[in-house]
Amino acid sequence: MESHRFEADVRQILELVTHSLYSEREIFLRELVSNASDALDRARFEQLKRDDLRPVEGEPAIRVTVDEAAGTITVSDDGIGLTREEAVEHLGTIAESGTRAFSERLKEQAEGGGSAEGLIGRFGVGFYSAFMVADRVVVESLSALPGTEPIRWESDGGESFQLGPGERAHRGTDVVLHLREDAREFLDADRLREVIRKHSEFVTWPIFVDGERVNTEQALWARNPADLDEDAYKGFYRHLTGDWQDPLLWSHARIEGTPTYDALLYVPRKRPWELDRLDFKVGLKLYQRRVKILDHANELLPRWLRFVSGVVDSPDVELNLSREMLQNTPVIRKIKQQLTRRVLKRLRELSIQAPDDYALFWKEFGHILKEGITEVDGKDRDLLVGLLRFRTTRSADGELRSLAQVKSDLAEGQDAIWYLTSIDKERIAEAPVLEAFKKKGWEVLLMDDPVDEWVVMHLPEYQDTPLRSVMRGELPAPADDDPVAAEARKQAEPLVAWLRDLLKDVVADVRTSGRLTESPSVLVDQDGGMGSNMERILRAANQEIPTSKRVLEVNPEHPMVRTLARLNAEGHTGLEPFARLLLDHAAIAEGRLDDPKGFASRLQALMERAAAALAGQDEGGAPEPDPSAEGDGGASAETPDAEDGPRAEEA
Ligand code: ADP
Repeated sequence: MESHRFEADVRQILELVTHSLYSEREIFLRELVSNASDALDRARFEQLKRDDLRPVEGEPAIRVTVDEAAGTITVSDDGIGLTREEAVEHLGTIAESGTRAFSERLKEQAEGGGSAEGLIGRFGVGFYSAFMVADRVVVESLSALPGTEPIRWESDGGESFQLGPGERAHRGTDVVLHLREDAREFLDADRLREVIRKHSEFVTWPIFVDGERVNTEQALWARNPADLDEDAYKGFYRHLTGDWQDPLLWSHARIEGTPTYDALLYVPRKRPWELDRLDFKVGLKLYQRRVKILDHANELLPRWLRFVSGVVDSPDVELNLSREMLQNTPVIRKIKQQLTRRVLKRLRELSIQAPDDYALFWKEFGHILKEGITEVDGKDRDLLVGLLRFRTTRSADGELRSLAQVKSDLAEGQDAIWYLTSIDKERIAEAPVLEAFKKKGWEVLLMDDPVDEWVVMHLPEYQDTPLRSVMRGELPAPADDDPVAAEARKQAEPLVAWLRDLLKDVVADVRTSGRLTESPSVLVDQDGGMGSNMERILRAANQEIPTSKRVLEVNPEHPMVRTLARLNAEGHTGLEPFARLLLDHAAIAEGRLDDPKGFASRLQALMERAAAALAGQDEGGAPEPDPSAEGDGGASAETPDAEDGPRAEEA
């Protein structure tokens, strides 16, 4: 026997399973049975492609035996087995799959001071979980590949394992657990049967405990839906995903046609944390007449349905199908089309029958589903558009509204569905560009998800009603504009012309605004171009995006603007700091001031002048002809009062 040191990650897991995990220990059996089942799957799969594998003696199965006298449990299979090299690699390091993810999660938890106990049920820790109940584990294995030798692997779960020649005469693997003193409860065949029924019910190979058959073996997806109850579907979901919660919904299809297939799909209730990982393996399990071909057949559903898990079994797929070939396989493409439609319809059903559940779904997966809008067409597109939900200026308490609702609630004279995209979730609802819309009672979609930019790009209209951005283009004055406002607009024109010239290096244009009721100024996007929000998103993704100039709109009815217009008309000089403050104000109200230092010094200069003017007033002296001075000329309501500064800063 040769001694080998475990990889560091393995030592860490072993340390944990032997010393700190005491609850849910029974899942060691689930893990070993699952490995045995995988080994049998792989052997069957290989066998279909080559004919020189070592044969099985009798019926291929998983056999669990108890030896009370020796204090051992043995889990045996007739699967693919392990060569010497495979034993070193697979039982000494951590595979990329479940165990690695578990180990990373564990570190996160440990660093966050959390407990690992809850994680166990969800992940298992693969083979190494044997050490939760055993202080010595012996693996005897003979690979099914011709020309290989039996091996024996052995470890006490410490720093190292021993490897040498073994004795197994037939292909497959025995895992022998020498139970710890405190785990002798598992030396009971009935207890083991109970654990297997609970955790390994859906394993598709026969499982025997001390010679007695435990499971029913039939693949659930191949059974008649009429014979299956909710619990069966839920149980299978847990088996499939390891999720301890019930699924949100499922869909079981048995299609006879070209192609013929069974499909059982699930949508989880909560987003699995793995979904956000870059190396998350997307895809349904693909079988051909119960023979597993791929664990992650990523082309059976589009990427924007990657939250769906499940199984597809079709006699019409090739056994030697690889992941790389999936995309160019007509059968797979056909199944993908049909499953996509099926999931969309099932979601529509949910949205109609259980709107609260649908809202839950949207919260978890809406941002993923939305990605689909860039890809779909025809009927799928209609279905998907019908599934979209948005927060709007009308939704109370985070209520989400569909485009159908928004359209049916269009106000008199409102000929577009308006939206605002901004990744500033906190501020979007208070954006100054919304002021006039709110006053008129026009609903605006508040699109605060980065992907929304792509959604609107691909959604120019909804059932003949155009979608328009409140950030773009000129908003014409209402037809029934009151004379006071019209007059103010006229008065502001010379000021606007002066500002346009003054600020021509920083903004594309200056104009009077139809958007504002409260604020003196706002920045909007030019027609055409990608828009400032999109620029922001791309920049956040490290793309080099030039900043395009925006349009400054001023509110002609705002007291400060009125006063400036009047002073400008009277030929006052020294208005430039105010002009620049209008621009600052607009930037601050959006929560993004590009030049805080310049702003601070402009504000300071104005404050000094205001203070000096006030002091002059207190002394009874004649105030300077200063636009910021209180009581300078016109009515005080028209004075750019000192509050403008702080108010702008708060915004
Ligand atoms: P995972 O199953 O998540 O890959 P495990 O720690 O459970 O991780 O197992 C590691 C690897 O050891 C498996 O991927 C497999 O290659 C190998 N292995 C474990 N048990 C068996 C078995 N009974 N027969 C053949 N190979 C096995």
